[in-house]
Amino acid sequence: MNTTLLDQLISINSVYPNEKQHAEFLEEQLKKIGFTTRRQIVSQDRFNILAERGNKNSPDQKALCFFGHIDTVPPYGEWNTDPFKAHYQDGKIYGLGAVDMKGGVFAILEACRETDPQKYLKVIFCVDEENISAGAWKAVTDEEFFNDVKTLIAAETGNIHPYDPQEKWVHLGRRGRCTIDLEVLGLSAHGAFPEKGINAINDAATIINSLKTLPLSEHPIIGKSSLFANNITSTETSLSIPDYCKFEINRSLVPPETPESALKQVQEMVQKLQTDQHLKSQINISLQKRDTPFAPPYITDKENPTIQHILKIIGEETPKVSIDYGLSVADENVFANGAHLAVISVGPEGDNEHTANEWVNIDSLKRLVNYFKRFIEEV
Ligand SMILES: [Zn+2]
Repeated sequence: MNTTLLDQLISINSVYPNEKQHAEFLEEQLKKIGFTTRRQIVSQDRFNILAERGNKNSPDQKALCFFGHIDTVPPYGEWNTDPFKAHYQDGKIYGLGAVDMKGGVFAILEACRETDPQKYLKVIFCVDEENISAGAWKAVTDEEFFNDVKTLIAAETGNIHPYDPQEKWVHLGRRGRCTIDLEVLGLSAHGAFPEKGINAINDAATIINSLKTLPLSEHPIIGKSSLFANNITSTETSLSIPDYCKFEINRSLVPPETPESALKQVQEMVQKLQTDQHLKSQINISLQKRDTPFAPPYITDKENPTIQHILKIIGEETPKVSIDYGLSVADENVFANGAHLAVISVGPEGDNEHTANEWVNIDSLKRLVNYFKRFIEEV
């Protein structure tokens, strides 16, 4: 397999929010292999690529849609090689985005290049996945693009599984997440007379200590949700009782939890503490403000006929197909929740994403191109 194209993708810096050059390059590649492309502007110099190819056999024919994200995280940690230059060693390609997810994007392009351009097919590449999924949230507003999509195939890795020629892991769901802001407003007083004030840090500590008593949901497939507090800040005071404390709760979500249900749970816990433990601070609780919504979790129905067909093909190519569910959130959550698509993640194998010396296994890329070609031709 010729992987020159992947070398090129790695050499283009696409650390969010600077995806423009990579997006233009991908657009050009799609055009070369027969796609009609459209730019969907997300913000200045940032756009998704929505592409389609081929013809419908009947007006109600639905398309498969491949998904990839255009951006990468910055190069974290101490790299042994240049993160923007593909480095080949021991059957692996090292580089920033090698597995997350330029390897997957490469496999999509290769599979499309080697299949019948008449087949009705869609591809979407989005910006900002590594940040707040601004690209995916924008994409799902385009009902026209998704109204004839039956299944979204994300060429993305989920939880890391080592490459095994005998086994292929796919992902059929992911946990969601949200961040809850808590602002604790007390009353300052001279430090020599603490009883005259309301200590916001003490009240915050009571709340943080009580978090471990929250009953977390457990889903039979995706497991238990989790939470932790962080980013605790207060105002600087000398000899005064602190009247302000702010912190965040980082919360992962499993079905049927939503960001709103997680918020309500904390609000009720705090209300109870205010009564039972006589917390006197005023406590403001809200979902953290950001430009896109927090994504709920999703689980794809394994019995969906297209998903069944995809799993069957993988099973014919590889002795064992194993199903997993991602522990962290990704653009797939947005497509599953925002566009109500059946989403399956079938990516390459590699490791060290979001840290130094990220790599992708070359055999796993070959295998991925094979699967994708069969999906395009047969599903
Ligand atoms: Zn990714």
